[in-house]
Amino acid sequence: MKKTILISIIAGTLTGCSVNMKTVRINTEQSIVLVNVTLIDGTGAKAKPHSTIVIKDGRILEISNIRKDFDATTANIIDLEGKYLIPGLIDGHVHILDESKKSKGAKAEKTIAKMFRKGVTSIRDMAGNAKRLKELKEVALQPTTPMARVYYATLVAGPEFMATDPRLKDVEILDLHENPWVIVITDSTDIPKEIARSKAFGVDAIKLYEKVPGHLAIELIREAKKQGLQAWAHGSVGIEGPIAVIEAHSLSHAQEIIVSDTLTTLSASAFRKVLNAPATEQILLRMQQNNVVFDVTLGVTLKPLLKYEDWEDEIGERVRSLIECLVLVTKKAFDIGVPIGVGTDTEGDVADEMKLLVTKVKMPKIQVIRAATYNNALALGIEDDYGTIEVGKVADMVILNSDPLEDITNVRDIKYVIKAGHIYSK
Ligand SMILES: [Zn+2]
Repeated sequence: MKKTILISIIAGTLTGCSVNMKTVRINTEQSIVLVNVTLIDGTGAKAKPHSTIVIKDGRILEISNIRKDFDATTANIIDLEGKYLIPGLIDGHVHILDESKKSKGAKAEKTIAKMFRKGVTSIRDMAGNAKRLKELKEVALQPTTPMARVYYATLVAGPEFMATDPRLKDVEILDLHENPWVIVITDSTDIPKEIARSKAFGVDAIKLYEKVPGHLAIELIREAKKQGLQAWAHGSVGIEGPIAVIEAHSLSHAQEIIVSDTLTTLSASAFRKVLNAPATEQILLRMQQNNVVFDVTLGVTLKPLLKYEDWEDEIGERVRSLIECLVLVTKKAFDIGVPIGVGTDTEGDVADEMKLLVTKVKMPKIQVIRAATYNNALALGIEDDYGTIEVGKVADMVILNSDPLEDITNVRDIKYVIKAGHIYSK
């Protein structure tokens, strides 16, 4: 190698907003060659030091660990000695327009720009105002926009849920039955027609929420798949519980693998019995066989509890038991081979959720990186193009200054974020 190009930083494509990253100027006609980097490719394979990655037209053209000379006059060569390369992170469970948190409107653009700064190149929005999400998706689609790509769903729930959920108080969805991205499910719903309407609107998935009878849940999932949409589900769908949704692409929240009400009433030892019961094991085995991503969202449940973890009274005991239950479910699913997903369920930090999977669940760090990249791409149905660093895939990646396999929170120590071959720095 002759010399490394001088990288100049120009202002980001969107001005006046401090959360936006800055574009790293390169010759866009030429390929990008990342050299001397330690590659953690998101497949779960071990790290490969001194890797070379060639990017052309936004995709990964070549990966090797052979040192060879690249002509700096015909390629953008970036020497990443001492740095680490991981796939772009995906937050597998967000509600960026949660009406109950007043985080709607213009703030949403800032939110997805802020997430991008944290290495999140795609997000899975698990139901919100899809009219607005559709606009956001279009804004964030371009590689020249330093924002996380947005994937979103039609909300499917029973009429009882629709009457009470705070998200549905938005004026734009007053007439639920007229809305193409909300399906109020009853026995008389024309499922193929409703799903076709959602698909025509542009959603990526249906999200099965509360009060969906089990037999209808299965019908909805099968029809969504038939029409080329993803099906994302809560476990508490219907009285049949998770068994009704094991054909979905993902199942949200660790506690919902068993009927969720019991979680707050059972002790950890009683919970362990439920967890080890043949019926629960059967669900996890079926999830493993069907490759259903288990998006456990530990942080959103545990975070408010952790401060009571050391209390020596009844509250402390109850909290420790609850934490143990959530950890046990996740660990058991992981041991069985269910793909674990990483989702914050808030505007929170993916790194925090990853840390919980390492410190509480004791998942190997390389598997936690896979969970936040490949597994989440699987839940989105975009795994052929995203989620790992492999030849042919879109070049969504994050370059880190320090080793995430030493400390998983080093995924915050970001040098560059790359979106389809466009390089951004803070
Ligand atoms: Zn959620």
